[in-house]
Amino acid sequence: MELQPSKILVVDDFRHNRIALNKVLQPLDNIELVEASSGSEALAKLINNEFALILLDVNMPNMDGYEVAELISSTQAHKHTPIVMLTAHDSSTKDIMRAYEVGAIDYLTKPIESTILLNKVKQFVKISQLQAKTNYLRSEREVILEAAGQGVIKFNSEGKVQFINSKACQLLQSDNDSLLGTQFNLWFKTAEREPCHDDLFLFLRTQANAQGIFQQRVTLYVEDNKTYLVELTCTSAKKQLDASMIVLFQDISDRLEMENRLIHLANYDTLTQLCNRGSFHEQLKRALGRAKRVKSTVALLFLDLDRFKQINDTLGHDVGDELLKGVAERLRLVLRESDIAGRLGGDEFAILLEDCHSSADAELVAKKLVDSIRKPFVLHGKEILIETSIGISCSDNGEHNITTLLKWADIALYAAKSAGRNCHQLFIPAMSAKAQKHAVIQSKLRKIIERDLLDVHYQGQYSLTEKRFVGFEALVRWPRNGFGKTPISPGLFIPIAEQSHLIHKLGIQTLKHACRLLQAWQSSTETQHLSIAVNLSAKQINSQDFLSTTQATLDQFSFPRAQLTFELTETAFLDNTENVVKTMNSLKDMGFMLALDDFGTGYSSLSYLQKLPLDILKIDQCFVQRLGQCDKTSALVKAIITIAQAHDMNVVAEGVETKLQLDCIEQLGCSKIQGYYFSKPIPVDLINGLLNPQVIPIKPKIDKPQHKSQVN
Ligand code: C2E
Ligand code: MG
Ligand code: MG
Repeated sequence: MELQPSKILVVDDFRHNRIALNKVLQPLDNIELVEASSGSEALAKLINNEFALILLDVNMPNMDGYEVAELISSTQAHKHTPIVMLTAHDSSTKDIMRAYEVGAIDYLTKPIESTILLNKVKQFVKISQLQAKTNYLRSEREVILEAAGQGVIKFNSEGKVQFINSKACQLLQSDNDSLLGTQFNLWFKTAEREPCHDDLFLFLRTQANAQGIFQQRVTLYVEDNKTYLVELTCTSAKKQLDASMIVLFQDISDRLEMENRLIHLANYDTLTQLCNRGSFHEQLKRALGRAKRVKSTVALLFLDLDRFKQINDTLGHDVGDELLKGVAERLRLVLRESDIAGRLGGDEFAILLEDCHSSADAELVAKKLVDSIRKPFVLHGKEILIETSIGISCSDNGEHNITTLLKWADIALYAAKSAGRNCHQLFIPAMSAKAQKHAVIQSKLRKIIERDLLDVHYQGQYSLTEKRFVGFEALVRWPRNGFGKTPISPGLFIPIAEQSHLIHKLGIQTLKHACRLLQAWQSSTETQHLSIAVNLSAKQINSQDFLSTTQATLDQFSFPRAQLTFELTETAFLDNTENVVKTMNSLKDMGFMLALDDFGTGYSSLSYLQKLPLDILKIDQCFVQRLGQCDKTSALVKAIITIAQAHDMNVVAEGVETKLQLDCIEQLGCSKIQGYYFSKPIPVDLINGLLNPQVIPIKPKIDKPQHKSQVN
């Protein structure tokens, strides 16, 4: 801090006196002398000036020193400015007393002893400079306190306000004078249940003493019982119990609201307002820890909606979103306040039940949930039905970790879905091995389909009359690279795809492969005549958008529609026969061929043969493979062929592996053969080699005489 020179006002009507005083005071550093030759001039000099000292002569014409001193002392601005009277050598005690009365703090008798004057003035200048410094520091401290933007209050050891900055006055909605001396506990309170509620000041000071700085959120009570949440930062002035305490505080209502909003966003699903995956896992972890301590049972329920994807695709995302909200609402209705529900993503929900008595409790809740969700939803004026499956896993006394519980619930969910929908399934260790394997396959398959990595192999269909391959069946294959060392057979993964929604995408992806090939074949006379058969599963046909998505896929290609055959097994007609018949008719109307696959294995009634516009009947390989060994089989196959012919259908024999089987089937009147004898299912790039074995030296990897030219 740089100090300004201290001003000294010298008032004397004799010029040579003023010059003499000036001379005496010369040795003093950092002073500025201001002269006045009369009382009135002195008063004029006081305007806009602050003086460290006034040296005032008593004897002056018009207005003597006493009058001047009296006037100066009566002003607000200068009442504390020290005045030293310069009195005549013959001054009486009365004169001196008068000088004190009018406001002088000292006097010097003329002739003035220069060293005395010099030392006296020196002392006054020092005091004045100290005063200036103190004032400066105080104002600087006040500026800092105001700039802090926070309320600052100093409380004395009894908790009374000693100092308060203007921000604190503003927050307390009062003024400085009214607030000084008021009690801390009058303004700041905690909830009654808090242990520190009774004497909050004492509590905070004790904490601040112990910890140096202590923070606490409390409620500030202002006029009309209005309250604000504030955060106090308390510092004890000294490390003693009777010390004063400085409290910094600010209104944190907005900050808290923002904090709460961020916490909500981080932990809750914005659509349903249920916990999101992350916070659900946190809750599960916490519940398991607690169950370990209090020896209770925790149940985890995984809930998956069936047909949700279809609703989303056909009715739009708005309806899908509304449905998810509706499901969340139903969960809330069934669950207790203390249960925790979360949306893990898409149409997957999870529920955490704490303090169950046994797994039976969880099963009861699951049943209620299934029943509640199966009731129709009315969305955008439409009634929508949805099914759910629930998998349950339990932990007694916190045993098993979160990963295990999640895995078990997933396996149980898978089992529930396999058992038919609209039901729940409790995880039991016995279900583990098989269900686990299926769950793993399902998740791998999901990834394969998402990345469009499915492979398709083609198995030739050989015409004995034309002596050439006339078509191929498209058979989906697990990709060779990645996703496990040994590829999984379609016999295993197709039923798994059928139990989830994956079969729809699988179907479309296989169909696209086949269409691309058919289209490519159109450009060559060697391949133009070939047809391709694609398998359909009952699940696909029964989906509402099957026809529209199939149509949309086929619209991307141009080849004669009759060169594409859809194969369907008998079992597809077991459920929802009418709908299947309708869909098959539509496919037929669109110009495609229809084949009945694996004929003879399942459904014994033949009545649907009349109802369906079938073109081809495929005799199941189990009959074909018994030909030549069993006469009854021959009779049965003959009957099948006769029925097919009676219905104007072509017959294809599946699974012909040997020359004997081939001869038998040919004899029975079937001329179209599909089987290892002519060709195993092969990758697309080996088809040319199969069609033209002489041209392409690379033989397909097939282990028996594979085609006619080699057989003869
Ligand atoms: P499917 O439609 O009856 O297909 C014929 C199955 O018999 C194929 O099994 C084929 O490899 C096998 N096979 C053909 N000739 C012989 C033979 O001479 N001997 C023996 N032992 N087997 C022969 P794959 O490829 O394992 O397919 C099994 C089933 O999976 C298919 O039976 C079909 O129902 C289903 N599938 C395959 N691809 C698809 C697809 O893209 N979509 C649907 N929905 N199902 C498919
Ligand atoms: Mg087939
Ligand atoms: Mg078949």
